[in-house]
Amino acid sequence: MSWTINLLTLFPEMFPGVLGHSLAGKALERGDWAYNAVNIRDFTEDVHKSVDDTPYGGGAGMVMRADIIEKALLSIDNPGHKIYLSPRGTPLTQAKVKEMVEMPALTLLCGRYEGVDQRVLDAYGFEEVSIGDYVLSGGEPAALILMDACIRLLPGVMGNDNTADNETFGANTGGLLEYPHYTRPATWTAEDGEAHPVPEILQSGHHEKIQQWREKQSVDLTRRRRPDLLKK
Ligand code: SAM
Repeated sequence: MSWTINLLTLFPEMFPGVLGHSLAGKALERGDWAYNAVNIRDFTEDVHKSVDDTPYGGGAGMVMRADIIEKALLSIDNPGHKIYLSPRGTPLTQAKVKEMVEMPALTLLCGRYEGVDQRVLDAYGFEEVSIGDYVLSGGEPAALILMDACIRLLPGVMGNDNTADNETFGANTGGLLEYPHYTRPATWTAEDGEAHPVPEILQSGHHEKIQQWREKQSVDLTRRRRPDLLKK
């Protein structure tokens, strides 16, 4: 059975979007993963098909209605763990992504406008997850990012199953940022005439020294850019 993700959205046509291409797209064609995009608007009952209303207590914008979202959610056979993509959520991390890939079923609620009536989130135990400290206009791009991070961890999606552990945040990288990469030519001369050689150690063929160099690069980079990761 493929890893299946349910989406509650006002824009089902945004899926699979970028995930219909490259490795994720091939995996989708193979049936390694599947998605079920439910259009929240299909569960409205008024002529205008309205999904939102003004906020109690006043203020700007509109709020997505609990009753409509509930109907959309209940139309899903096996919603599994429920996530509301939200800038107020706990940050999405590689550790969280790993947990999600193990979940037998997952439903992502994509908000729009000012967000969603709190009552439906509370009543159905939605976990709030943020993809970063910035505000998007809707949850769909956030859902696509979360899905991409999960899909690449599915068995057989990447050429080498071990790759994810060797990357930034990976188990073999000690949860740190990855070392820099280089490929041919050994010396690249930029348009301004400056020559940029590949670090000599990488051409030495000395695996142990290369490993040590990479580890040092990884720690130095993490210290400079993400000291919070080193503390962990
Ligand atoms: N009023 C909300 C607030 O201040 O927290 C922001 C609403 S935002 C304009 C509309 C929708 O985009 C949200 O309901 C959420 O689904 C999605 N969204 C925005 N930023 C996000 C983020 N950083 N991570 C995940 N989802 C986000």
